[in-house]
Amino acid sequence: MVRNTLECLEEAGYEAWCVGGCVRDSLLGREPEDWDVTTSALPEETMAVFGGDAFPTGVQHGTVTVRRGGRSVEVTTYRVDGTYHDHRRPDSVTFTRSLEEDLARRDFTVNAMAMSLAGELKDPFGGRADLKAGVLRAVGEPDRRFCEDALRILRGLRFSAVLGFSLEKGTGESIRRNRFLLEDIAAERIQTEFFKLLCGKYAVKVLREYPEVIGVFWPELLPMVGFDQRNYHHCYDIWEHTLHAVEQVPCDLILRCAALLHDVGKPKCFTLDTQGSGHFYGHPKISALLAGEMLCRLKCANGIRETIVRLVEWHDKVIPRTEKSIRRALMSLGEEDLRRLLAVKRADNLAQAPEFHTTQAEIDKFEAMMEQLLAEDACFSRKNLAVNGKDLTDIGYRGKRVGTILQTLLEQVVDGELPNNREILLRRAREIGGKI
Ligand code: ATP
Ligand code: MG
Repeated sequence: MVRNTLECLEEAGYEAWCVGGCVRDSLLGREPEDWDVTTSALPEETMAVFGGDAFPTGVQHGTVTVRRGGRSVEVTTYRVDGTYHDHRRPDSVTFTRSLEEDLARRDFTVNAMAMSLAGELKDPFGGRADLKAGVLRAVGEPDRRFCEDALRILRGLRFSAVLGFSLEKGTGESIRRNRFLLEDIAAERIQTEFFKLLCGKYAVKVLREYPEVIGVFWPELLPMVGFDQRNYHHCYDIWEHTLHAVEQVPCDLILRCAALLHDVGKPKCFTLDTQGSGHFYGHPKISALLAGEMLCRLKCANGIRETIVRLVEWHDKVIPRTEKSIRRALMSLGEEDLRRLLAVKRADNLAQAPEFHTTQAEIDKFEAMMEQLLAEDACFSRKNLAVNGKDLTDIGYRGKRVGTILQTLLEQVVDGELPNNREILLRRAREIGGKI
């Protein structure tokens, strides 16, 4: 599809190149997320080349989307950005016929390369060498580039977290120095970059090196840095403990966020007992509260936020290894979130002093018991209950009562007090009504 796009533009007499992330990823042997094409053709010329397959998705920036056979490629005219006044967007963009000028507006050298159909590489800023060396270097003068568009600050950290590249010294220092410019960036854009950062294979290295940058939009993290826990369970300060926990969960947004935020309330809850030991009573609740606020601030989707908050709130709860309490936990959290909770608990434990890692074996046993209960196809949710709301309405219940009675029946089934049998549950439902 991208080949065909380049061919069409070249046949019509224009220059056309693959550019940016897709060139970087191809050279790294990674599958590109998306393919971008840059061309000397003006937007209306691109529209003319592709006719009905072309859509003017961002014509003011020179972008035309070409859709063919269910796939799409963004084709953007060579462009130079005008002046920047708000650390966000150029006041104007100007089209140019020079590829070099277009490459010069791009953020990092590894993102400022173009490749032609014939395989020719245009690399005026040494992106290839930086790619080989695993280095992220701003194109041009870093302070000026981060000042133009502060999102580049976070993009730099994101690429470092995903690719494992280190930031060239001047670029890294400039990122630190200019971090407060991120305050001007819309929450949604921060969210996109930060979540990719957090799911990067090398996220922990970046979090460890640049907490003050993340602290611009999530200042709640900063008190954790260097906070001595004064507790024999812990061999790390709160931030190091947190980073070890993040390292122990898979690269999944919900798990990574839950691990990052599970102890965020600890600094607010610290008390010292008479023996000089530190305690953090009530920290899961405070952490959950803060996590909710932090995720709201980044405009995180409600469903994801609620799941993360629930995991944070539950992370320290003791769930006894009995059938009844595991059934109850399955009822409260559902299978997927209970599995997530176990992943967070494992990570939290592995991030504590090594002599307490025996908890891992406990979690193994818990998990085995849970698998057994799940394999029995037992009932843990209203979905699997042998009666539903309609059944209760049919026997005369109305409004809120329907929900309350369903919940009571579910709890009794989950606790093993009643079998999940329609006749028996209906009889019980009538009895409950009779009592009131
Ligand atoms: P991804 O793998 O996430 O797609 P990417 O590098 O392709 O990474 P995109 O957001 O798709 O990132 O942008 C495509 C290209 O546009 C980048 O490689 C870079 O050359 C340029 N670019 C994107 N955002 C900026 C920015 N804020 N400042 C300068 N150049 C940018
Ligand atoms: Mg891309």
